[in-house]
Amino acid sequence: MSQWHDLDQQYLMSTYHRLPIAIERAEGNHLYDTEGSSYLDLFTGLAVNILGHSHPAIVRRLQEQGERFLHISNKFLNPPAIQLAQRLVENSIPGKVFFTNSGAEATEAAVKLVHKWSQATGGERQGFVVMEKSFHGRTLGAVRLTRQAGVYQDFPQPDFPVFEVPPNDIDALRAVCEQERPAAILAEPILGSGGVQPLAESYLQAMATLAQEQGMMLCMDEIQTGVGRTGTFFAYQAYNFSPDVILFAKGIGGGLPLGGIIAGEAIAHLFQPGDHGTTFAPSPLSAALGLAVVEELLDNGGLEQGRENATYLWEALARLRQQHPDVIGAIRGKGMMIGLDTHLSPEAALRLQQGLLQDGVLVDIAQQRVVRLLPPLTLKREETDFFIERLSAHLARSGEEVL
Ligand SMILES: *Cc1c(COP(=O)(O)O)cnc(C)c1O
Repeated sequence: MSQWHDLDQQYLMSTYHRLPIAIERAEGNHLYDTEGSSYLDLFTGLAVNILGHSHPAIVRRLQEQGERFLHISNKFLNPPAIQLAQRLVENSIPGKVFFTNSGAEATEAAVKLVHKWSQATGGERQGFVVMEKSFHGRTLGAVRLTRQAGVYQDFPQPDFPVFEVPPNDIDALRAVCEQERPAAILAEPILGSGGVQPLAESYLQAMATLAQEQGMMLCMDEIQTGVGRTGTFFAYQAYNFSPDVILFAKGIGGGLPLGGIIAGEAIAHLFQPGDHGTTFAPSPLSAALGLAVVEELLDNGGLEQGRENATYLWEALARLRQQHPDVIGAIRGKGMMIGLDTHLSPEAALRLQQGLLQDGVLVDIAQQRVVRLLPPLTLKREETDFFIERLSAHLARSGEEVL
């Protein structure tokens, strides 16, 4: 461990606080480190490994596509990517897909496409409305839409208009849309790194109505909430509205980098040759894995199984909260995207994370005191039981510290 820790410090830039474990391999819902310890992964590479690790369907597809070709460029037809795009469109909105390598690049593509739309409609509406504490990525365009001071800092930013509103306040959103005339609303159905803050169903519905009334593009950032994470294929599908643009990434590549946008029929044609592009995306290998992920979720019962597993976990967490109301304030989120809002100090929250790590459970901390869980949809009941038992022991101890 310490050997890897020292080399990490020496050769990798310190852009993350890393947990001091060096991973040797992963299987199912567990990671194994070089010291032989195992960890229940309730983190899933930050919402990536939606089916856990080394899922047989993904490993099989990796071998099949790996033996065919890894990369061909956008100058040729790319069958795995075409098949994946078809499935994405058939299971969301009628339209077309532009693939990227990451979430931030999906945001960049949305910024460019909305700009094209704005220009095509006379330029009367410009820019975006976003939520306070939103997270849409760290590249310079995306970071302009990310409303977390620790992320945007004083980095240079492009100057397209961005307006920030408090989440779940429809009057504030309406006022900004009427006064500032933005071209688009961009929102995460559940703010992820903003502390697992869901947008209320009534707010999302009103937002969609507002976008339609005012002729704005409605863009849903489903980079974290999508691909089954919240119990439906995309989170917005639990509600009765359709966005104009859907951003996706994280879970779709089955562990490989892949992202993109799905744009509705009315605007998808606005990207013409030369308007946007990238060398790598869509990686045929990532797309082939993406297809395996979609098949598992939609054809082989993965989504229903995930919902059942999530219900079991939510029920256990609700009981735990009743036992420890002094530590757990609220439980927020949906499906396998859960935030335990604690009354802990930032230091105590980190100690809780460390304690769980020593017990063999990996969780994330968001906004300093929210225990963020992003479990795989494949989380087994005995794995939930193990986690709850360990968490309960730590909460009893943390409770003494709080009081
Ligand atoms: C992770 C995330 C992004 C950025 O994705 P990257 O692949 O890290 O660039 C954007 N939006 C949301 C909601 C995310 O969770």
